[in-house]
Amino acid sequence: LDRVSKVYRVGSFGGEQLRAVGDVSFEVRPGQVVSLIGESGSGKSTIGKMVLRTSRITSGTISFDGADISRYRRTGELKEYYRRVQGVFQDPFSSYNPVFKADRVFEMIRTEYFAAVPAAEWRAKLDAALRTVRLDPAQVLGKYPHQLSGGQLQRLLIARALLLDIELLVADEIISMLDASTRIDVLNLLADLKERGLGILFITHDLSLGNYVSDQTVILRGGSVVERGATRRVFANPLHPYTRRLLSSVP
Ligand code: ATP
Ligand code: MG
Repeated sequence: LDRVSKVYRVGSFGGEQLRAVGDVSFEVRPGQVVSLIGESGSGKSTIGKMVLRTSRITSGTISFDGADISRYRRTGELKEYYRRVQGVFQDPFSSYNPVFKADRVFEMIRTEYFAAVPAAEWRAKLDAALRTVRLDPAQVLGKYPHQLSGGQLQRLLIARALLLDIELLVADEIISMLDASTRIDVLNLLADLKERGLGILFITHDLSLGNYVSDQTVILRGGSVVERGATRRVFANPLHPYTRRLLSSVP
């Protein structure tokens, strides 16, 4: 991200403006976990949505693998982008990629990823991915997404994101809805994927979690970056008073 900003039009006549994100720059490299940390309303999800092209940027540039993502115009280009970049969101019911049509879970996954692959091959891969997130294939595959619980849908979306050999995962508070043992499974899974080269933008308001999972940390306040750097450094030696204040609230 290079000096990315987002201004929302708010108010009953759309006349007021809210600068939710201001001049944010940072990058996520292959095999790197970058945590984006900030209090509620600091602009974290807005950044995630802009990276996933579900929210339009107001100014600045977001590039992926050298290409400006705002230039993708055709559905085919976006589809290709979503084969390499996937997101799992805070509110799982809003996290569909707009280019894909929702169907029964089984059909949704088959048409998205496996249209050209023999059924026997991908069923095994799918079942393994579902088991990693502790979902029973027999219980979820025949359902429509809205018939799943929030936690089930979130886990399904994690499995779905991981079925492709994606290169970047935007993970927006993905473990807050999970129970403790699934949480640990998902964190271990993310660690494995990172080892295999996946870049992860890990959005959280939980400082301890950010410290645990990430290599780099970006601290946001009111839409702006107040501090960024190696996670170890940010936590051991915070430079900004705001970061110090945030850290002093962690037990
Ligand atoms: P949380 O930790 O609560 O999820 P966040 O850091 O993810 O917060 P955002 O969802 O990015 O915060 O919101 C940043 C700001 O932008 C907030 O003030 C929010 O009210 C505002 N905002 C978010 N989405 C919209 C929208 N679609 N229209 C108008 N304002 C919005
Ligand atoms: Mg959010």
